[in-house]
Amino acid sequence: MIPASKRRMTLQRKIILEEIEKVNAHPAADEVYELVRGRLPKISLGTVYRNLEILSESGLIRKLDLGDGQWRFDGNLKDHYHVQCIRCGRIGDVFCKPCEDLEESVQEKTEFEILSHRLDFVGLCPECKRKEEQQWQD
Ligand SMILES: [Zn+2]
Ligand SMILES: [Zn+2]
Repeated sequence: MIPASKRRMTLQRKIILEEIEKVNAHPAADEVYELVRGRLPKISLGTVYRNLEILSESGLIRKLDLGDGQWRFDGNLKDHYHVQCIRCGRIGDVFCKPCEDLEESVQEKTEFEILSHRLDFVGLCPECKRKEEQQWQD
């Protein structure tokens, strides 16, 4: 049984989804636009935005806010965290057990009923770290 969202998939939407699933760079909308333009030269940025909304609402991609002022899109639907480089902006995936203890302790402290949490890591990617170390050696 194909989910309703897939049945009504237009060709444009299908190509956008394929391009997002292909990369693990977590592209922003304008980067998705660049990716799909190779296959759909006539597509507009507005159409890309609209389809990204529909795809994330149907749960086929994830929409991420990593605090850098733009939405990013992830084709990997498995539970995972993200790590972003403060120098070059590169985003990596972090697969580790969801921190359920954290939710419990926040619930105790705040008396909120915690439903989920958002957690992002920031740091220096291996490449930027190497550059930084080289700089200090010179
Ligand atoms: Zn970096
Ligand atoms: Zn991811």
